[in-house]
Amino acid sequence: MRADSYDPRGCPDIHVEHYDLDLVYKLAGNRLSATAVLRVTALTNLQQLELDLTGLTVKKVSVGGARLLRYAHRGGRLQLRLAAEVPEGATFEVTVRYDGHPVPVPSPWGTVGWEELTDGALVASQPTGASSWFPCNDRPADRSTYRTSVTTDNGYHVLAHGTLVARRARAATTTWVYAERHPTAAYLATVQIGRYVALPLGDSPVPQHALVPATLRRPASRLLARHGEMMRTLTEMFGPYPFTAYTLVFTEDELEIPVEAQGISVFGANHVVPTDGDERLVPHELAHQWFGNSVSVTTWQHIWLNEGFACYAEWLWSPHAGGRATDAMARHWHTVLARAPQDLVLSDPGPANIFDDRIYKRGALTLHALRLTVGDQVFFDLVRDWTARYRYRSVTTADFRALAHEHAELRGGEALADAVGALLGAWLDQPRLPALPRR
Ligand SMILES: [Zn+2]
Repeated sequence: MRADSYDPRGCPDIHVEHYDLDLVYKLAGNRLSATAVLRVTALTNLQQLELDLTGLTVKKVSVGGARLLRYAHRGGRLQLRLAAEVPEGATFEVTVRYDGHPVPVPSPWGTVGWEELTDGALVASQPTGASSWFPCNDRPADRSTYRTSVTTDNGYHVLAHGTLVARRARAATTTWVYAERHPTAAYLATVQIGRYVALPLGDSPVPQHALVPATLRRPASRLLARHGEMMRTLTEMFGPYPFTAYTLVFTEDELEIPVEAQGISVFGANHVVPTDGDERLVPHELAHQWFGNSVSVTTWQHIWLNEGFACYAEWLWSPHAGGRATDAMARHWHTVLARAPQDLVLSDPGPANIFDDRIYKRGALTLHALRLTVGDQVFFDLVRDWTARYRYRSVTTADFRALAHEHAELRGGEALADAVGALLGAWLDQPRLPALPRR
């Protein structure tokens, strides 16, 4: 089994086509009992596979379409050994019954995953927290469809990614069923449970809502007063919005940072009344729906493609929100970065540094430098082609270089293509911060 230093988890030998998750969650005591059915395709001839499942107890494992010899669950890894080798391309079904008290998974970047709130629960899994609540192939490149059924106490709103397809109330509990037809990485799968009310924010090009505790209704309405316009502006710049809806969740608890999920962003109560320019986080999280969620990274090595674009979206929205011009934002952050240590290589930052703030800011500066070099028309055509060509697909930095080269050559010939190649080389592959081209 191959291990990638950026993605030590998951199992590169399988692709999970579909997750069918049946979760029963008792808020009192944070108790989860669940059944997960995974439709798995073998990517190579295999007799053994591993799934990630952390901190929960496996009760039973069965396999349909192949014979299970034995399984073992230790160190957050569920290892299955089949009685005979299954050929590459074969599909089989793995059913796991499990329960326990889900808690966030420790990672080099802090704890991530399922988290009990004061009065509810959330899932914020980036990058390796998905295994805190379901057995999964926790690799960003493995993307699957989902059916997520959550049964929990009455009086709570349950949101999962995808579309609500059923809701059945009983005496004390309600079951909420969501279907996700877009290919979704495990870290972007989510469940949000709280006493939320829904605020409609706009319906073009897709319905947008905020889920907020009733006490935050008024400040959230103020913060998100122009959300519909933000959605339309980003859609013009980035191309069609990739999913069928967008929901912002504001938890009653404070959260350190907001985080994206498929079609959803999760903020804390502290982000409703922004301080220190924190309102930039709203366009940042929205931009992840294109960059990260639809166009996904193959491994975390390429995370600048997610965070660079999301940070650049903050600067693109800034003048629309009455803030500084995009170019002024870029020059400000260039000055800040010029004073920071220059020992980070964007195209290969090392696993420990994937959430270093310089990835975000230098990533956005790389895009701005490219835009100043090729001009607005070529740049935004390139961005829209990027989100169209790689919609629901996984990418690497090499894919971006190739597309930038293609657009530059088409519109400016070999000279512009060479200039773009040299520019991206300096910004992406060298630790020293290049000068920002003149306007
Ligand atoms: Zn981000």
